[in-house]
Amino acid sequence: MEKKPDRCKVNEREQFSYEYKQKILAKSDDRCCHCGRKAYIGYGATVDHYVPISKGGINDDCNLVMLCETCNKEKDDLIIDPDNYLVYLKEPYISI
Ligand SMILES: [Zn+2]
Repeated sequence: MEKKPDRCKVNEREQFSYEYKQKILAKSDDRCCHCGRKAYIGYGATVDHYVPISKGGINDDCNLVMLCETCNKEKDDLIIDPDNYLVYLKEPYISI
């Protein structure tokens, strides 16, 4: 019998398709949600789990925002007040 070391990693990151990333990026008008810098998929734009997976966040649209690499590194796995952090998220998406 085959042994299955198939344990779910808590920090497992989902690979998002280009189309999906575009959808997330559109939530902030193609900008980093925090600093407002133009973000380009494939050039430093990163999908961020607003509530980190390690803290119970889910892989769902409502928990995903686009951040530039710099902001994503700064945010790390913290949960930051969205009013102060997600400055560029467009109105209809501010549901976090
Ligand atoms: Zn940024």
